[in-house]
Amino acid sequence: MPGNPNEIKLVNNAMANATRRKIMNFLSSGDKSIEEVGEEVGKTMLDFHLKLLQQASLIKLGEETASLSEYGRNFLKGKEDKNADKNADLSQAKPVEIVEVRQLLPCIADSSKFRVIANIAPPLVGTLKVLEPLFPRGRYSEKINALIVQKGEIITTIYGSGKVTMTMIKNEDEAKEALENLRNIINEAIAKGVAPAPREKIRVEPMELYKYLPQTNCGKCGDQSCYTFAIKIMSGEASLDMCTPLNEPKYATNQEHLQVLTAYI
Ligand code: SF4
Repeated sequence: MPGNPNEIKLVNNAMANATRRKIMNFLSSGDKSIEEVGEEVGKTMLDFHLKLLQQASLIKLGEETASLSEYGRNFLKGKEDKNADKNADLSQAKPVEIVEVRQLLPCIADSSKFRVIANIAPPLVGTLKVLEPLFPRGRYSEKINALIVQKGEIITTIYGSGKVTMTMIKNEDEAKEALENLRNIINEAIAKGVAPAPREKIRVEPMELYKYLPQTNCGKCGDQSCYTFAIKIMSGEASLDMCTPLNEPKYATNQEHLQVLTAYI
């Protein structure tokens, strides 16, 4: 059963692709023949997808059949439990207000733009993750108890404590407008008192990933160009940490964007 960081990485890579997630869901209703899997999800690169799922110990492959492994079943169950959590209602939540815009610091990636730190009250603490479906490019992180939202160039991170950070803001007016927008979206959902229905996520294209890569074609990831690397990320053959130049401080904001985008591949 996957447990060490490398094995967990295999699972994350395997599940980072929509076709492979579809295969997992299809197999959750019982063992299938490879032919049936192909009819359900399409036959393009089917062997590759099945092999990645097998390598991650999520499925078992017979000569002509595919089935979930015990780990794969538990993995899906864990996801269902998390989704049940997300479907909690908002009836106890109170409308929020922007109470403070504390700092307007130059962005690391682009000194003509600003990083804003603000506060909303009351803090959303446990209800934050329920709000994720409100934002097409929103991702709730259990690890930091924060909702990370990407809209155009701006990345907004709303923490359970009430702290809100925004990157790539042009000026104070844009900061105020973006914060008011955020408050209105959240308060509308709170006024309804129920968790928002999941939205169809926006499709991520390789060109969009490429836009935020360093574009130096340095080859450190093992690929000849950043665009090839972007395509490999899309197919699950590569992961962001293989592009080591992204760890340089000047790419900090690019990395934030890429992390939000890759969460939806
Ligand atoms: S390591 Fe990063 S910057 Fe270098 S080629 Fe690969 S993707 Fe591009």
